Amino acid sequence: MFLKKLLLNEEEIPKKWYNILPDLPEQLPPPINPQTREPIKPEQLEPLFAKELIMQEMSNERWIDIPNEVREVYRMWRPTPLYRATGLERALKTPAKIYYKYEGVSPPGSHKPNTAVAQAYYNMKEGTERLTTETGAGQWGSALAFACAMFSLKITVYMVKISYNQKPYRKVLMESWGAEVIPSPSERTESGRKMLENFPNSSGSLGIAISEAIEDAVKNEKTKYSLGSVLNHVLMHQTIIGLEAKKQLEQVDEYPDTIIGCIGGGSSFSGIFWPYYYDKVSGKAPKETKLIAVESTACPSVTKGYYVYDHGDTARLTPMLKMHTLGHTFVPPPIHAGGLRYHGMAPTLCLLNKHGMVEARAYNQIDVFNAAALFTRVEGIVPAPEPAHAIKAVIDEALRCKRKDEEKTLLFLLCGHGYFDMKAYEDYFNGKLKPYNYPKEKVDKCIQKLTELYPWLKNEITP
Ligand SMILES: *Cc1c(COP(=O)(O)O)cnc(C)c1O
Repeated sequence: MFLKKLLLNEEEIPKKWYNILPDLPEQLPPPINPQTREPIKPEQLEPLFAKELIMQEMSNERWIDIPNEVREVYRMWRPTPLYRATGLERALKTPAKIYYKYEGVSPPGSHKPNTAVAQAYYNMKEGTERLTTETGAGQWGSALAFACAMFSLKITVYMVKISYNQKPYRKVLMESWGAEVIPSPSERTESGRKMLENFPNSSGSLGIAISEAIEDAVKNEKTKYSLGSVLNHVLMHQTIIGLEAKKQLEQVDEYPDTIIGCIGGGSSFSGIFWPYYYDKVSGKAPKETKLIAVESTACPSVTKGYYVYDHGDTARLTPMLKMHTLGHTFVPPPIHAGGLRYHGMAPTLCLLNKHGMVEARAYNQIDVFNAAALFTRVEGIVPAPEPAHAIKAVIDEALRCKRKDEEKTLLFLLCGHGYFDMKAYEDYFNGKLKPYNYPKEKVDKCIQKLTELYPWLKNEITP
């Protein structure tokens, strides 16, 4: 007999997050100011972020305490369940054992409140009255709206216009938690107005929405900005996922041969694999674990992008981060996996990829929805389009185990449910999805624009 569902008690919610910075194979290239090319100093980030979060961003402490008030909120849905994908194993007739950690049980339906709650808490402690942020499909916006409601903060969400119009229910969800939601580009900010002047019909992008949210935070008192992925402190908050998963798998004496997750900015996947990476670097891992990050062929930051310093936003308000990027002028094709449409990637993940420690793959949305549809029929949970990318990779790996008759243990992250994505499933069932493959030539063009802006980057470029 095997267990379908591995659970933990509330008391077993981890008390510390794991910070990977002291354990990286080389020092992480720092964020820099593009004019001076000097590393950004912590004080320079203070108009944007709470002090504690800036400290965490640059900290070399390996374990960081999770405040009790944050754990109190986590208790609402944590520890999250870890399932054995028995239905999928049977359907594939694979000898592989497949497990998935499910983050869809949180109130907003994804992993994102793991960091949103922490960020709202530290801001509340430091006297912030309002947070600003951007959101694409609405998952980050709804997570932060929920978190702000928990700590009585105001929140303004700049939502990419195309999603605002096409995904009204996420907007209503954010409003239900008390958020103000503004379609971006908007007339509220200089960056928005400039964009509308040049492109009156702009349907927006994450890069533009970030510019608007940052500008709003910098120009207003007691207002700070909050980011839902990419940055070190955000990824660290997500390690609660992997720390729990490890305890759960220990209950059944399992250790993963392979860990798989989707990557938009890299936070959820980092959250599940960092604790296993720590095992490896501290000599505690009983075996070698392969790490597979899955992105969309429509937004192939790691598989087709360049590893080079770039801005996090279109208006170039953010410092430059060394990361795999499609160029900050990248405008993503309209795929349904909204969370995977960002031009950049977490610098830590990019560094590990460069060192061959994390493999990256890309799939198109037709293959991805085929995988999601199978998963839904045999496991019952409807996955969000983003983690469906991971499911596609899991199925490929499980079928490979079948061909080679290998009884591997696969662990993947089901980072959110897809119950707000019925339009995407409808389009899929009606055969309306297209298998976008973002062309390399277009990437090259955006990167060329980047090097025209910053000629000093030319020497640094590695594909
Ligand atoms: C935001 C989001 C993503 C992408 O972000 P990461 O930082 O890569 O995790 C993926 N899946 C879901 C469900 C999301 O909400």
